[in-house]
Amino acid sequence: MAYDPNNVFAKILRGEIPCKKVHESRHSLAFHDINPLSPIHVLVIPKGAYVDFDDFSARASAEEQADYIKAIGDTARVVGAEKGGYRLLSNCGVNANQEVPHLHVHIFGGRLLGRMLKKDGE
Ligand code: AMP
Repeated sequence: MAYDPNNVFAKILRGEIPCKKVHESRHSLAFHDINPLSPIHVLVIPKGAYVDFDDFSARASAEEQADYIKAIGDTARVVGAEKGGYRLLSNCGVNANQEVPHLHVHIFGGRLLGRMLKKDGE
């Protein structure tokens, strides 16, 4: 899928719409999800134009990839998610119901999160 420069996270990166920033590094930005699903719900995005994890892992430089991994862990610590534990989730494409076509990792925490997925047929 081609990158859409009008997606909402691209607008946040350009400063066209606000976000509640949690953490920033050279290649990554983290902010609170606008519709939190758990007491801690933060999104971490790369600053580069990558549609999803597949695109990022194929095209991003080693420096961007290392920065992004570190930014995710650093962000979790900024919000204290590491104390009780947390879940990372990144929806990639149609099967995963990805809504915003700019790579983002969700950090969920602050409560027991239950099993990660229902089994087929449940
Ligand atoms: P996904 O289904 O993984 O693409 O999730 C997209 C996430 O982006 C959802 O959890 C939304 O609540 C969140 N979201 C959408 N617009 C904004 C925004 N302007 N600021 C922060 N989070 C947003």
